[in-house]
Amino acid sequence: QVLVGNLIGEGHENYVLMYNMLTGIRIAVSRCQAKIKRPLTDEDYTARHKFSFDIVGNELTPSAKYDFKFKDYAPWVFRELREEEFRLDPADYLLSLTAKYILSELGSPGKSGSFFYFSRDYRFIIKTIHHNEHKFLRKILKEYHTHVRTNPHTLLSRFYGLHRVKLPHGKKIHFVIMNNLFPPHRDIHETYDLKGSTVGRLYPEEKAAVNPRATLKDLNWIDRKKTLELGPDKRAYFSEQLRRDSELLKKLNVMDYSLLVGIHNMQRGNRDNVRSNTLKVFSPDLPHPRRKASQIGNKSEASAVRRAMRQSDVKALTPETANLPDSDPSDDRRHFIFYQDEGGMRATDESNQPMDTIYYLGIIDTLTPYTFLKKIEHFWKGLKADRHKISPVPAVEYGDRFFAFINAITRGGGGGERFKSE
Ligand code: ATP
Ligand code: CA
Ligand code: CA
Repeated sequence: QVLVGNLIGEGHENYVLMYNMLTGIRIAVSRCQAKIKRPLTDEDYTARHKFSFDIVGNELTPSAKYDFKFKDYAPWVFRELREEEFRLDPADYLLSLTAKYILSELGSPGKSGSFFYFSRDYRFIIKTIHHNEHKFLRKILKEYHTHVRTNPHTLLSRFYGLHRVKLPHGKKIHFVIMNNLFPPHRDIHETYDLKGSTVGRLYPEEKAAVNPRATLKDLNWIDRKKTLELGPDKRAYFSEQLRRDSELLKKLNVMDYSLLVGIHNMQRGNRDNVRSNTLKVFSPDLPHPRRKASQIGNKSEASAVRRAMRQSDVKALTPETANLPDSDPSDDRRHFIFYQDEGGMRATDESNQPMDTIYYLGIIDTLTPYTFLKKIEHFWKGLKADRHKISPVPAVEYGDRFFAFINAITRGGGGGERFKSE
Protein backbone atom coordinates (compact mmCIF):
# COMPACT_ATOMS: atom_id res chain seq x y z
CA GLN A 1 0.00 0.00 0.00
CA VAL A 2 2.36 2.67 1.18
CA LEU A 3 5.30 3.33 -0.96
CA VAL A 4 4.28 1.79 -4.21
CA GLY A 5 2.92 4.70 -6.16
CA ASN A 6 2.08 5.53 -9.72
CA LEU A 7 4.79 6.95 -11.86
CA ILE A 8 3.96 10.40 -13.09
CA GLY A 9 4.75 10.81 -16.74
CA GLU A 10 3.66 13.35 -19.30
CA GLY A 11 -0.12 13.28 -19.55
CA HIS A 12 -0.64 12.41 -15.89
CA GLU A 13 -3.06 14.84 -14.27
CA ASN A 14 -0.37 16.03 -11.85
CA TYR A 15 2.48 16.08 -14.34
CA VAL A 16 2.51 19.87 -14.60
CA LEU A 17 2.56 20.27 -10.84
CA MET A 18 5.37 17.75 -10.52
CA TYR A 19 7.31 19.42 -13.30
CA ASN A 20 6.90 22.81 -11.63
CA MET A 21 7.88 21.53 -8.20
CA LEU A 22 11.00 19.85 -9.50
CA THR A 23 12.05 22.69 -11.76
CA GLY A 24 11.59 25.15 -8.90
CA ILE A 25 13.59 23.01 -6.49
CA ARG A 26 16.36 22.52 -9.01
CA ILE A 27 16.80 26.20 -9.75
CA ALA A 28 16.26 27.50 -6.24
CA VAL A 29 18.43 24.95 -4.47
CA SER A 30 21.29 25.21 -6.90
CA ARG A 31 21.13 29.02 -6.66
CA CYS A 32 21.60 28.92 -2.92
CA GLN A 33 24.10 26.09 -3.10
CA ALA A 34 26.26 28.05 -5.55
CA LYS A 35 26.99 30.71 -2.96
CA ILE A 36 29.74 30.56 -0.43
CA LYS A 37 28.52 29.30 2.87
CA ARG A 38 28.09 31.82 5.64
CA PRO A 39 26.82 31.73 9.21
CA LEU A 40 23.04 31.94 9.57
CA THR A 41 21.32 35.10 10.73
CA ASP A 42 17.88 35.52 12.27
CA GLU A 43 16.56 36.85 8.97
CA ASP A 44 17.42 33.56 7.29
CA TYR A 45 14.61 31.87 9.20
CA THR A 46 11.95 34.16 7.77
CA ALA A 47 13.52 34.69 4.34
CA ARG A 48 11.71 33.73 1.15
CA HIS A 49 12.99 33.87 -2.37
CA LYS A 50 10.70 34.33 -5.33
CA PHE A 51 11.18 32.90 -8.78
CA SER A 52 9.04 33.49 -11.80
CA PHE A 53 9.18 30.89 -14.53
CA ASP A 54 7.90 31.20 -18.05
CA ILE A 55 8.50 29.65 -21.41
CA VAL A 56 10.82 32.45 -22.50
CA GLY A 57 13.18 32.57 -19.54
CA ASN A 58 15.42 35.38 -18.35
CA GLU A 59 18.79 35.86 -16.75
CA LEU A 60 17.49 34.66 -13.35
CA THR A 61 15.36 31.73 -14.36
CA PRO A 62 15.91 29.56 -17.41
CA SER A 63 12.97 28.92 -19.68
CA ALA A 64 10.50 26.35 -18.42
CA LYS A 65 7.77 24.32 -20.09
CA TYR A 66 5.03 26.12 -18.18
CA ASP A 67 4.38 29.49 -16.57
CA PHE A 68 4.42 29.37 -12.78
CA LYS A 69 5.79 31.10 -9.71
CA PHE A 70 7.94 29.43 -7.14
CA LYS A 71 8.89 30.40 -3.60
CA ASP A 72 11.78 28.98 -1.68
CA TYR A 73 11.47 29.44 2.09
CA ALA A 74 14.45 29.86 4.39
CA PRO A 75 16.85 28.45 1.80
CA TRP A 76 19.95 29.03 3.90
CA VAL A 77 18.45 27.32 6.92
CA PHE A 78 17.43 24.25 4.92
CA ARG A 79 20.81 24.12 3.28
CA GLU A 80 22.40 24.03 6.72
CA LEU A 81 19.91 21.41 7.91
CA ARG A 82 20.67 19.19 4.93
CA GLU A 83 24.41 19.51 4.98
CA GLU A 84 25.30 19.93 8.64
CA GLU A 85 22.52 18.27 10.57
CA PHE A 86 21.32 15.55 8.22
CA ARG A 87 24.61 14.95 6.40
CA LEU A 88 23.20 14.84 2.92
CA ASP A 89 25.48 15.15 -0.06
CA PRO A 90 24.23 18.30 -1.87
CA ALA A 91 24.81 16.85 -5.31
CA ASP A 92 22.98 13.64 -4.43
CA TYR A 93 20.06 15.63 -3.14
CA LEU A 94 19.65 17.59 -6.34
CA LEU A 95 20.15 14.59 -8.57
CA SER A 96 17.59 12.54 -6.68
CA LEU A 97 15.03 15.26 -7.06
CA THR A 98 15.67 16.29 -10.61
CA ALA A 99 15.93 13.26 -12.83
CA LYS A 100 13.25 13.13 -15.48
CA TYR A 101 10.02 11.33 -14.55
CA ILE A 102 11.36 10.85 -11.13
CA LEU A 103 8.31 11.04 -9.03
CA SER A 104 5.76 8.47 -8.23
CA GLU A 105 2.60 9.54 -6.57
CA LEU A 106 1.05 7.88 -3.60
CA GLY A 107 -2.15 9.80 -3.89
CA SER A 108 -3.53 10.80 -0.58
CA PRO A 109 -3.07 8.08 2.04
CA GLY A 110 -4.27 10.12 5.01
CA LYS A 111 -7.46 11.97 5.69
CA SER A 112 -5.80 15.34 5.37
CA GLY A 113 -5.83 15.46 1.58
CA SER A 114 -2.07 15.76 1.36
CA PHE A 115 -0.37 14.16 -1.59
CA PHE A 116 2.85 12.22 -1.32
CA TYR A 117 5.47 11.88 -4.03
CA PHE A 118 8.60 9.78 -3.98
CA SER A 119 11.84 10.64 -5.65
CA ARG A 120 12.76 7.95 -8.11
CA ASP A 121 15.54 6.60 -5.94
CA TYR A 122 12.97 6.47 -3.17
CA ARG A 123 14.99 8.42 -0.64
CA PHE A 124 12.88 11.54 -0.50
CA ILE A 125 9.22 12.26 -0.06
CA ILE A 126 7.48 15.41 -1.19
CA LYS A 127 4.36 16.00 0.87
CA THR A 128 1.91 18.72 -0.08
CA ILE A 129 0.79 20.44 3.09
CA HIS A 130 -2.02 22.71 4.19
CA HIS A 131 -1.32 26.42 4.37
CA ASN A 132 -1.63 26.26 8.16
CA GLU A 133 1.03 23.56 8.38
CA HIS A 134 3.23 25.66 6.15
CA LYS A 135 2.83 28.73 8.34
CA PHE A 136 3.43 26.61 11.38
CA LEU A 137 6.68 25.13 10.09
CA ARG A 138 7.96 28.61 9.32
CA LYS A 139 7.05 29.72 12.79
CA ILE A 140 8.84 26.88 14.56
CA LEU A 141 11.74 26.56 12.14
CA LYS A 142 14.28 28.04 14.50
CA GLU A 143 13.26 25.84 17.40
CA TYR A 144 13.20 22.83 15.11
CA HIS A 145 16.68 23.64 13.91
CA THR A 146 18.00 24.07 17.43
CA HIS A 147 16.43 20.78 18.40
CA VAL A 148 17.94 18.74 15.59
CA ARG A 149 21.29 20.41 16.13
CA THR A 150 21.34 19.51 19.79
CA ASN A 151 19.68 16.13 19.16
CA PRO A 152 21.47 14.61 16.20
CA HIS A 153 19.66 11.33 16.76
CA THR A 154 16.20 12.83 16.74
CA LEU A 155 13.35 10.62 15.56
CA LEU A 156 11.44 13.59 14.16
CA SER A 157 10.78 13.89 10.44
CA ARG A 158 13.73 15.40 8.68
CA PHE A 159 12.69 18.47 6.73
CA TYR A 160 14.96 19.23 3.80
CA GLY A 161 13.06 22.04 2.12
CA LEU A 162 9.89 24.12 2.23
CA HIS A 163 8.48 25.53 -1.01
CA ARG A 164 5.42 26.84 -2.77
CA VAL A 165 4.26 26.61 -6.35
CA LYS A 166 1.73 29.11 -7.63
CA LEU A 167 -0.11 28.24 -10.80
CA PRO A 168 -1.19 30.88 -13.33
CA HIS A 169 -4.82 30.78 -12.20
CA GLY A 170 -3.66 31.58 -8.67
CA LYS A 171 -3.77 28.21 -6.94
CA LYS A 172 -1.01 27.83 -4.36
CA ILE A 173 0.49 24.50 -3.43
CA HIS A 174 2.75 24.31 -0.41
CA PHE A 175 5.05 21.36 0.09
CA VAL A 176 7.89 20.00 2.18
CA ILE A 177 10.62 17.62 1.24
CA MET A 178 11.43 15.05 3.86
CA ASN A 179 13.11 11.72 4.45
CA ASN A 180 11.47 8.49 3.43
CA LEU A 181 11.79 6.37 6.55
CA PHE A 182 11.45 3.18 4.55
CA PRO A 183 14.31 1.75 2.52
CA PRO A 184 14.29 1.18 -1.23
CA HIS A 185 16.10 -2.13 -0.97
CA ARG A 186 14.12 -3.95 1.72
CA ASP A 187 10.56 -5.17 1.89
CA ILE A 188 8.53 -3.86 4.75
CA HIS A 189 6.45 -6.75 6.01
CA GLU A 190 4.31 -4.84 8.47
CA THR A 191 3.60 -1.13 8.90
CA TYR A 192 2.11 0.58 11.95
CA ASP A 193 1.13 4.17 12.54
CA LEU A 194 1.02 4.55 16.34
CA LYS A 195 -0.38 7.48 18.30
CA GLY A 196 -1.12 6.13 21.75
CA SER A 197 -4.78 6.78 21.08
CA THR A 198 -7.10 3.79 20.99
CA VAL A 199 -10.34 5.33 19.79
CA GLY A 200 -10.90 4.49 16.14
CA ARG A 201 -7.35 3.23 15.89
CA LEU A 202 -8.09 -0.14 14.35
CA TYR A 203 -7.47 -1.12 10.78
CA PRO A 204 -9.96 -3.91 10.07
CA GLU A 205 -8.10 -7.22 10.38
CA GLU A 206 -10.12 -8.83 7.59
CA LYS A 207 -8.90 -6.10 5.25
CA ALA A 208 -5.34 -6.44 6.56
CA ALA A 209 -5.44 -10.14 5.69
CA VAL A 210 -5.85 -9.34 2.01
CA ASN A 211 -3.71 -6.21 2.03
CA PRO A 212 -0.38 -6.95 3.72
CA ARG A 213 0.83 -3.46 2.89
CA ALA A 214 -1.86 -1.69 4.86
CA THR A 215 -0.80 0.75 7.54
CA LEU A 216 -2.07 -0.74 10.78
CA LYS A 217 -2.85 1.17 13.93
CA ASP A 218 -2.58 1.10 17.71
CA LEU A 219 -5.31 -1.46 18.33
CA ASN A 220 -3.91 -3.85 15.73
CA TRP A 221 -0.56 -3.64 17.51
CA ILE A 222 -2.12 -4.31 20.91
CA ASP A 223 -4.41 -7.10 19.74
CA ARG A 224 -1.59 -8.80 17.86
CA LYS A 225 0.48 -8.59 21.05
CA LYS A 226 3.41 -7.00 19.28
CA THR A 227 6.50 -5.71 21.08
CA LEU A 228 9.20 -3.36 19.92
CA GLU A 229 12.15 -5.66 20.54
CA LEU A 230 14.97 -3.54 21.89
CA GLY A 231 17.60 -4.77 24.31
CA PRO A 232 18.62 -2.63 27.30
CA ASP A 233 21.15 -0.51 25.40
CA LYS A 234 18.97 0.41 22.45
CA ARG A 235 15.90 0.70 24.62
CA ALA A 236 17.66 3.30 26.78
CA TYR A 237 18.77 5.37 23.78
CA PHE A 238 15.43 5.09 22.08
CA SER A 239 13.41 5.98 25.12
CA GLU A 240 15.57 8.98 25.94
CA GLN A 241 15.36 10.33 22.40
CA LEU A 242 11.64 9.73 22.28
CA ARG A 243 11.28 11.63 25.54
CA ARG A 244 13.21 14.62 24.22
CA ASP A 245 11.34 14.66 20.93
CA SER A 246 7.96 14.49 22.59
CA GLU A 247 8.98 17.23 25.03
CA LEU A 248 9.68 19.47 22.05
CA LEU A 249 6.37 18.63 20.42
CA LYS A 250 4.57 19.41 23.68
CA LYS A 251 6.35 22.71 23.91
CA LEU A 252 5.44 23.54 20.31
CA ASN A 253 1.84 22.69 21.09
CA VAL A 254 1.74 20.04 18.36
CA MET A 255 -0.44 16.98 18.29
CA ASP A 256 -1.77 14.19 16.08
CA TYR A 257 1.70 13.00 15.13
CA SER A 258 2.55 9.32 15.19
CA LEU A 259 5.39 6.89 15.36
CA LEU A 260 5.59 5.21 11.99
CA VAL A 261 7.04 1.71 12.35
CA GLY A 262 8.05 -0.43 9.40
CA ILE A 263 9.08 -3.98 10.23
CA HIS A 264 11.44 -5.98 8.06
CA ASN A 265 11.78 -9.63 8.90
CA MET A 266 15.23 -10.79 7.83
CA GLN A 267 14.18 -14.45 7.67
CA ARG A 268 11.60 -13.51 5.13
CA GLY A 269 13.99 -11.14 3.42
CA ASN A 270 12.93 -9.64 0.12
CA ARG A 271 11.16 -12.73 -1.10
CA ASP A 272 7.92 -10.92 -1.77
CA ASN A 273 9.87 -8.22 -3.47
CA VAL A 274 6.78 -6.45 -4.67
CA ARG A 275 8.12 -3.00 -4.16
CA SER A 276 11.47 -3.47 -5.86
CA ASN A 277 9.75 -5.06 -8.82
CA THR A 278 7.37 -2.19 -9.07
CA LEU A 279 10.20 0.27 -8.90
CA LYS A 280 11.96 -1.57 -11.67
CA VAL A 281 8.92 -1.19 -13.82
CA PHE A 282 8.86 2.53 -13.23
CA SER A 283 12.47 3.13 -13.92
CA PRO A 284 14.39 0.52 -15.86
CA ASP A 285 17.65 2.28 -15.14
CA LEU A 286 17.16 2.39 -11.39
CA PRO A 287 20.72 2.10 -10.16
CA HIS A 288 22.24 -0.30 -7.74
CA PRO A 289 21.36 1.21 -4.41
CA ARG A 290 24.51 0.43 -2.52
CA ARG A 291 26.99 2.84 -4.01
CA LYS A 292 27.34 6.56 -3.91
CA ALA A 293 27.42 9.13 -6.69
CA SER A 294 31.01 10.04 -6.03
CA GLN A 295 32.24 6.43 -5.98
CA ILE A 296 31.03 5.29 -9.31
CA GLY A 297 32.03 5.29 -12.92
CA ASN A 298 29.63 8.01 -13.82
CA LYS A 299 31.74 10.59 -12.06
CA SER A 300 31.38 13.11 -14.81
CA GLU A 301 27.77 13.58 -13.94
CA ALA A 302 28.22 14.10 -10.23
CA SER A 303 31.02 16.53 -10.90
CA ALA A 304 28.96 18.29 -13.54
CA VAL A 305 26.34 18.86 -10.91
CA ARG A 306 28.89 20.14 -8.45
CA ARG A 307 30.39 22.40 -11.08
CA ALA A 308 26.95 23.62 -12.01
CA MET A 309 26.23 24.43 -8.42
CA ARG A 310 29.45 26.36 -8.06
CA GLN A 311 28.95 28.29 -11.23
CA SER A 312 25.24 28.58 -10.85
CA ASP A 313 25.09 27.15 -14.33
CA VAL A 314 21.63 25.78 -13.91
CA LYS A 315 21.41 24.52 -17.48
CA ALA A 316 23.75 21.69 -16.63
CA LEU A 317 21.09 20.47 -14.26
CA THR A 318 18.24 20.08 -16.68
CA PRO A 319 16.54 16.73 -16.30
CA GLU A 320 17.83 15.51 -19.62
CA THR A 321 21.40 15.48 -18.36
CA ALA A 322 20.55 14.03 -14.99
CA ASN A 323 20.84 10.34 -15.64
CA LEU A 324 20.35 9.22 -12.06
CA PRO A 325 23.62 8.19 -10.43
CA ASP A 326 24.08 5.34 -8.02
CA SER A 327 23.47 6.39 -4.51
CA ASP A 328 23.52 4.55 -1.27
CA PRO A 329 20.26 5.30 0.48
CA SER A 330 21.65 4.54 3.89
CA ASP A 331 24.88 6.42 3.43
CA ASP A 332 23.83 9.61 5.16
CA ARG A 333 22.17 7.46 7.76
CA ARG A 334 25.24 5.74 9.10
CA HIS A 335 25.74 8.70 11.42
CA PHE A 336 22.48 8.15 13.22
CA ILE A 337 21.96 5.39 15.74
CA PHE A 338 18.36 4.69 14.85
CA TYR A 339 19.07 4.55 11.14
CA GLN A 340 22.44 2.86 10.91
CA ASP A 341 21.51 -0.78 10.42
CA GLU A 342 20.65 -1.04 6.74
CA GLY A 343 18.98 2.34 7.06
CA GLY A 344 17.00 1.31 10.15
CA MET A 345 17.47 -0.12 13.62
CA ARG A 346 18.07 -3.78 14.19
CA ALA A 347 16.11 -5.43 16.99
CA THR A 348 18.18 -6.72 19.91
CA ASP A 349 17.56 -9.22 22.68
CA GLU A 350 18.01 -8.89 26.45
CA SER A 351 21.79 -9.24 26.07
CA ASN A 352 21.86 -6.61 23.34
CA GLN A 353 22.51 -9.23 20.66
CA PRO A 354 21.03 -8.59 17.21
CA MET A 355 17.77 -10.33 16.27
CA ASP A 356 16.33 -11.00 12.82
CA THR A 357 14.19 -7.87 12.59
CA ILE A 358 14.97 -4.41 11.35
CA TYR A 359 12.77 -1.51 12.40
CA TYR A 360 12.35 1.54 10.23
CA LEU A 361 10.80 4.17 12.42
CA GLY A 362 10.35 7.85 13.05
CA ILE A 363 7.88 10.45 14.22
CA ILE A 364 5.78 11.77 11.34
CA ASP A 365 3.03 14.30 10.72
CA THR A 366 4.47 16.80 13.19
CA LEU A 367 2.96 20.02 11.84
CA THR A 368 -0.49 20.08 13.42
CA PRO A 369 -0.72 22.59 16.27
CA TYR A 370 -3.51 22.25 18.76
CA THR A 371 -5.52 25.04 17.27
CA PHE A 372 -9.01 26.27 17.70
CA LEU A 373 -10.16 23.83 15.08
CA LYS A 374 -8.84 20.88 16.98
CA LYS A 375 -10.33 22.24 20.17
CA ILE A 376 -13.72 22.13 18.53
CA GLU A 377 -13.10 18.63 17.26
CA HIS A 378 -12.04 17.64 20.75
CA PHE A 379 -15.25 18.97 22.17
CA TRP A 380 -17.49 17.15 19.70
CA LYS A 381 -15.61 13.88 19.68
CA GLY A 382 -15.38 14.08 23.46
CA LEU A 383 -19.12 14.05 23.73
CA LYS A 384 -19.27 10.66 22.11
CA ALA A 385 -16.17 8.91 23.42
CA ASP A 386 -13.85 9.09 26.39
CA ARG A 387 -12.25 12.48 26.21
CA HIS A 388 -8.82 11.13 27.14
CA LYS A 389 -8.58 8.33 24.63
CA ILE A 390 -9.51 10.20 21.48
CA SER A 391 -6.86 11.52 19.15
CA PRO A 392 -7.34 15.31 19.51
CA VAL A 393 -6.41 16.09 23.11
CA PRO A 394 -4.30 19.07 24.14
CA ALA A 395 -0.65 18.86 23.18
CA VAL A 396 0.77 18.14 26.63
CA GLU A 397 -1.67 15.33 27.25
CA TYR A 398 -1.09 14.04 23.72
CA GLY A 399 2.69 14.05 24.12
CA ASP A 400 2.66 12.38 27.53
CA ARG A 401 0.28 9.68 26.34
CA PHE A 402 2.31 9.13 23.17
CA PHE A 403 5.54 8.75 25.10
CA ALA A 404 3.96 6.46 27.70
CA PHE A 405 2.39 4.27 25.01
CA ILE A 406 5.53 3.79 22.96
CA ASN A 407 7.49 3.02 26.10
CA ALA A 408 4.85 0.53 27.16
CA ILE A 409 5.05 -1.38 23.88
CA THR A 410 8.83 -1.55 23.95
CA ARG A 411 10.16 -4.78 25.51
CA GLY A 412 9.94 -4.65 29.27
CA GLY A 413 7.37 -1.86 29.16
CA GLY A 414 4.38 -3.96 30.16
CA GLY A 415 2.46 -3.75 26.87
CA GLY A 416 -0.11 -1.35 25.49
CA GLU A 417 -3.16 -3.24 26.77
CA ARG A 418 -3.79 -0.82 29.61
CA PHE A 419 -4.20 2.05 27.15
CA LYS A 420 -7.44 0.46 26.07
CA SER A 421 -9.07 0.45 29.46
CA GLU A 422 -7.35 3.32 31.22
P1 ATP B 1 -3.59 12.45 8.44
O1 ATP B 1 -3.46 13.89 8.87
O2 ATP B 1 -4.96 12.03 8.03
O3 ATP B 1 -3.00 11.48 9.44
P2 ATP B 1 -1.52 13.04 6.45
O4 ATP B 1 -1.94 13.34 5.06
O5 ATP B 1 -1.04 14.19 7.29
O6 ATP B 1 -2.69 12.25 7.13
P3 ATP B 1 0.74 11.43 7.33
O7 ATP B 1 0.12 11.03 8.61
O8 ATP B 1 1.90 12.36 7.36
O9 ATP B 1 -0.38 11.96 6.31
O10 ATP B 1 1.21 10.13 6.54
C1 ATP B 1 0.28 9.20 6.02
C2 ATP B 1 0.99 7.89 5.74
O11 ATP B 1 2.03 8.09 4.76
C3 ATP B 1 1.70 7.31 6.95
O12 ATP B 1 0.87 6.52 7.77
C4 ATP B 1 2.80 6.50 6.30
O13 ATP B 1 2.27 5.27 5.89
C5 ATP B 1 3.17 7.33 5.07
N1 ATP B 1 4.31 8.24 5.41
C6 ATP B 1 4.22 9.50 5.86
N2 ATP B 1 5.44 10.05 6.10
C7 ATP B 1 6.34 9.09 5.79
C8 ATP B 1 7.79 9.01 5.82
N3 ATP B 1 8.53 10.05 6.21
N4 ATP B 1 8.37 7.87 5.42
C9 ATP B 1 7.61 6.83 5.01
N5 ATP B 1 6.27 6.83 4.96
C10 ATP B 1 5.62 7.93 5.34
CA1 CA C 1 -1.09 11.25 10.42
CA1 CA D 1 -1.74 15.30 9.14
